[in-house]
Amino acid sequence: MRGAFYDGRRFSVKVIVVSGGVISGLGKGITTSSLGRLLKARGIPITILKIDPYLNVDAGTMNPYQHGEVFVLDDGTEADLDLGNYERFLGQSLVGTHNLTTGKIYRAVIEKERRGDYLGNTVQIIPHVTGEIKRTIREVAQAAGAEVILVEVGGTVGDIESMPFLEALRELSNELGEGHMAFVHTTLVPVVGPVGEAKTKPTQHSVRELRAIGIRPNMIIARGPAPLTADIKAKISLFCDVPPEAVISVPDQPVIYEVPLVLEAQGVGTFLCRVLGLPDRPPDYAAWREFLATYRRGEGSVEVGVVGKYTELRDAYLSHTEAFHHCQGHLGVEIRLQWYDSEDLARNPSLAARLERSDAILVPGGFGSRGVDGKIRAVEIARTKRIPYLGVCYGFQIEAVEFARNVLGLGAATTTEIDPATPEPVVCLLEEQKDRSDMGGTMRLGAQRVNLTPGSAIARLYGRTEIWERHRHRFEINPKYLERFAAHGLRATGMSVDGRVEVFELADHPYCFGVQYHPEFLSRPEAPHPLYLGLIRAALARKEVAIPVAPPTALA
Ligand code: GLN
Repeated sequence: MRGAFYDGRRFSVKVIVVSGGVISGLGKGITTSSLGRLLKARGIPITILKIDPYLNVDAGTMNPYQHGEVFVLDDGTEADLDLGNYERFLGQSLVGTHNLTTGKIYRAVIEKERRGDYLGNTVQIIPHVTGEIKRTIREVAQAAGAEVILVEVGGTVGDIESMPFLEALRELSNELGEGHMAFVHTTLVPVVGPVGEAKTKPTQHSVRELRAIGIRPNMIIARGPAPLTADIKAKISLFCDVPPEAVISVPDQPVIYEVPLVLEAQGVGTFLCRVLGLPDRPPDYAAWREFLATYRRGEGSVEVGVVGKYTELRDAYLSHTEAFHHCQGHLGVEIRLQWYDSEDLARNPSLAARLERSDAILVPGGFGSRGVDGKIRAVEIARTKRIPYLGVCYGFQIEAVEFARNVLGLGAATTTEIDPATPEPVVCLLEEQKDRSDMGGTMRLGAQRVNLTPGSAIARLYGRTEIWERHRHRFEINPKYLERFAAHGLRATGMSVDGRVEVFELADHPYCFGVQYHPEFLSRPEAPHPLYLGLIRAALARKEVAIPVAPPTALA
């Protein structure tokens, strides 16, 4: 019999579980996404689920300094940033059910308990919490119509928080029987000492931990600075009881999109197909390889100044960074990101002078008043020095503030997010939002339609006038100022269906766009976002023009 029956329905989706050992931050999300890519390259319909064992219901309330960027899905879910990796590697959009947290599971169990669904039984971790976890995984897999679901378990094996999830997965593998589940364990093989010796002991310990829970890994993916030697692979195979061909070495890569090919070269796709009884068709990586070949070409370079307040933790701007990688893989030009802390920028004129030498400037999203002066300064530099500019969300709102202050002469202009009593609320809460804000949860979230003005620069960039983009914001451009903006060259050329301003474009400037939505969430290696491509193309064009044909001294 294939699979097992639940409530009379057969469940025959194969499950690949990816756990992590030794330390966090091993790139488990990249590994999981890459495994998905191997199966997708073989034409196998897959889906993917992230388990975050924290008690938060979702990532929406989490500080970017602790967890990196909040990734927004089409349905408005504020998800862990790994969901972004999944979407980018797999080229498919996910919904909120694909990010499972302890908070969601407990909430569901407690709601059922209050409704009396447990018929007077004592509600326990096993079987009720584990049962809820298994049910959710099955539902997500079936709703996606997938043949395989990849389940990444966040955290490190041995953490108290992840225990119920690992227990649930162990139970599931028992219920489904042989050949239905594969466990892939990601670990660190550190290199230590004067001769740079690779150490397998942490891996051995973490596999022992996993086996104590009742899970025997089918494959070990060893992360580390350098490739594992055959000796070390053999040692891990012996001590951790996995076949030698299932010890996989993934050393650090210059760009994460190399990882699927690193795995493929070691036979990972074929091995997993064998374990799970899947058809091992010849994989197709044509477009992927072309992307990487172009990426590596690195002809010429452009420097993009990125101005934000979370610049110390690059993960806070992960989707922007990836969007630039996607451009590099299409244009073959090296894109260097230069990070500017917006608070420092406001204080330090030499940083501003450095920013003036950028080939392009990006001001990403953000919240609150800290660092806002530096962002205003960045927009001013981009506008007056005619440096290609992209303002995203807060970077778009700040563009309006800068324009109102420095072009319209409204010195007090600001957003009511910073000063609720400002006489010039260029960015504010719209009337109908005000009551909603008292109830909380007022952010405009998820994919919404934007209508672009026919014939506008932005419509040319997209090649169409109706687009869908993801949102995550609370404040809006105040329509009261639009006429004055337009009279001075700042035109609103994208509007939401209900009349909110979504896009500004500046006349007489090589490339100056602000967008209320978040284009970074939709950029993919195989389809870079037009706003980022446009920014880099404009930066290249400007650089070419700026290089004099003959230096003036030659004329003397
Ligand atoms: N703070 C702004 C708002 O809430 C912008 C949000 C953002 O950049 N994501 O509208």
